[in-house]
Order: sequence, then structure tokens, then C-alpha cells
Amino acid sequence: MLLKGELPMPSLTEKIKDKAKEIGFDLVGITSAEPFRKALEILKKRELSEFTTKDLKMLTSPRLHLPGARTIISLAMSYASSERFTDEEAYIALYARGRDYHHVFREKMELLMDYIKELRIDARMKAYTDTGPILEREIARRAGLGWIGKNNNLINPRFGSYLLLGEILTNLDLELDQEIEPGCGKCERCIQSCPGNALIEPYYLDPEQCISYLTQKRGILPEQERKKIGRNLWGCDTCQRVCPYNRDIPVDLHLEFTPLLKGDFKKVLGFMKHKMELKWQESALSWRGLRILKRNTLINIANSGNNEYIPLLEKELNNPSPVLRAYAVWALGELGSENSRKILRELYRSEKDQRVRKEIKEALEKLA
Ligand code: SF4
Ligand code: SF4
Repeated sequence: MLLKGELPMPSLTEKIKDKAKEIGFDLVGITSAEPFRKALEILKKRELSEFTTKDLKMLTSPRLHLPGARTIISLAMSYASSERFTDEEAYIALYARGRDYHHVFREKMELLMDYIKELRIDARMKAYTDTGPILEREIARRAGLGWIGKNNNLINPRFGSYLLLGEILTNLDLELDQEIEPGCGKCERCIQSCPGNALIEPYYLDPEQCISYLTQKRGILPEQERKKIGRNLWGCDTCQRVCPYNRDIPVDLHLEFTPLLKGDFKKVLGFMKHKMELKWQESALSWRGLRILKRNTLINIANSGNNEYIPLLEKELNNPSPVLRAYAVWALGELGSENSRKILRELYRSEKDQRVRKEIKEALEKLA
């Protein structure tokens, strides 16, 4: 029994949540480690992107990741920014403009797990932040951090959807949080504004149509996908930008996520392997490699309609990578001049790679 004026001792769950906030997480909630049965049924009927494991059992069964897991601590940090971007720059998704969140989360989750170990020596834990085949957003939804919007993002009524997620699976029995009621109502702004027509129905995103996915997809993309990429150098935030829940939210909460990168064509094409500027190396967009960034830049230039970039493209015709030469040829076919025709005809005589030769033929036909 408590004496007058005496406060109750915080529970283990409260202590963990307080510490998570102190470390810098904006949201923390707890859900059980029970399998995600409903999500499993939905996923069986859907196309999954190449970045998602096809092992649906693994995706939806937390205990396959940590045997004996009882609960999951779901964590979120906001990366919302007050910075506005100009139409002159190629678009880089906001999450990728600052420091790679994987590292930021890893450091903070390590601190939290050290603290939990101090409280409970018997605690077993496993942490992920977009690093394991597990349904991160679904965990956050069930832990009461927000609801899944029609744009497929987790939305929190206070922080909006510019949220990065991580989770710690544990054998500890913590107090569970309640789910939040979905708040999209009749709104369909994200669906109407999606430039890729990827939100084919509420809550269903077709990855093959999504620009964010296309900017990360490897290989020679068909022309229709190149056009769809538009001037997006990395990712796409349109379905978040138009969401009313992203108005009047707290911004600039974490220095680590301050946007540093700008989509500068000349700069990206000038990068040498292993010699990218540090802030680019430290961004989450570097994980697919420099070649894909250069590929996207060539596509962006082609879609810019600006023939001031022709000299940049002509320089890329000497790129040792046949994939990049192929894209430079295509971009010249989109923007090129009489002089570009001459250059492409000469290149055709010496080019050995069949993919590049095919692009040259097609570009020459366009420029005829
Ligand atoms: S990221 Fe862009 S392309 Fe993908 S669903 Fe959102 S608005 Fe559509
Ligand atoms: S734009 Fe509207 S429908 Fe789309 S996620 Fe936001 S609230 Fe939901």
C-alpha cells in the first residue's frame, strides 16, 4: 500500500518506455509476439517487391526470429523537415537526405538494450531496423504507434508519417498497448496524386509501379519505367507530401536527419567509386551502389527536357560501364541535337556491347 504523497514505482514497461524517450525515440509502444495471421492471409494474395522475402512464415512469425519471444518493443523517430525543395533539383526522398537511419537506430537501440539488460539480466533480445524479414509497419500498428494509411505508410496523429521504425523482440512480458483507430476516412488524396499510379486501391501498393521502388531497381529498365521515374533521383514522397496528417506536425526534431543532400546531376555523375562525398556515403541511398545513382541521374536528365545537359551525356558515352553507356545513349536520343546524331553514329562503329548497340539504333531512329 502507498503512503500519502508516495508515487507508485514505475513498472518495467514504464521504465523501458521512459528510457526510450530519453535516448531520443519519439514513439514507443509494445505489442505481443503473436504471429500476424491476418497479414499473412493478405500477403499470400499480393505481389511482393524484390526487397521483401518470399518466406511469408518468417515475415509474419516473430518467434521464428527469437524463439520464446513474448513481446515486441516498437520504436519510431520522426524525420519531418521544415526545408523546402526547389523544382530545379532532382528529387531525393526526405529519409535519404540526412544520415543513414539504420546507423542512428542501431546506436540508439543498443543503448536501450544495454539498459534493459541492467534491469533484467535474463532478458533476451533481437533488434531490427529495416534489417530483417519482419513486418515492421504491422508491428508498429499493433503496438499503437499509428495506423496504416491508404498510402501504405504508418501514420501517427501527432507526428504524421515521416517516421522511421525499428523494433526489439524480447522474451520479457511487457504491458501491451492498444491499437489506434484508422483515420483516413473518405480521404483519397494519396491515391489521386500518386505519379506512378502505384496505389491501385486503398492500402495496396503495386511495387512495380512505385517510383520509389523503380529508383532502386537494377538492370536495364523499359522505356515506360524510365519515363515514370521523371526527375526522381532517389525515392518519391508524393503520397506523404499530400497527406493532411503531415500538416502542422513537429519538424526538425533530430539533427541526424537534417537534409544535407541535393539532387545535383553534375555532382553525381562526377563521383568516382569509393570517392563519393562523405554526406552521400553516409546516406541511406548509397546502399544500392553508385552505379544506380548515376543511372537515375541519366534518366532524370533525359526527362528534364533541358539540352544544356547534352555535353554531360556525351561525356558519359565513354563510361566503362555498358549499362551507363546504354542510358547515356538513350538520354541523348531524348534530348540530342544534330551533333549527338553524329557522335552516336561514330560510337556505333566501335561499340561492342549488344545492349548499347541496340540503344544507339533506337536513339538514331528517334533523332532522324
Ligand atoms: S512513393 Fe510515389 S510512386 Fe510510390 S506510391 Fe507513393 S506517390 Fe506513388
Ligand atoms: S492522403 Fe488521405 S487517404 Fe492517403 S494516407 Fe493520408 S489521410 Fe489517408
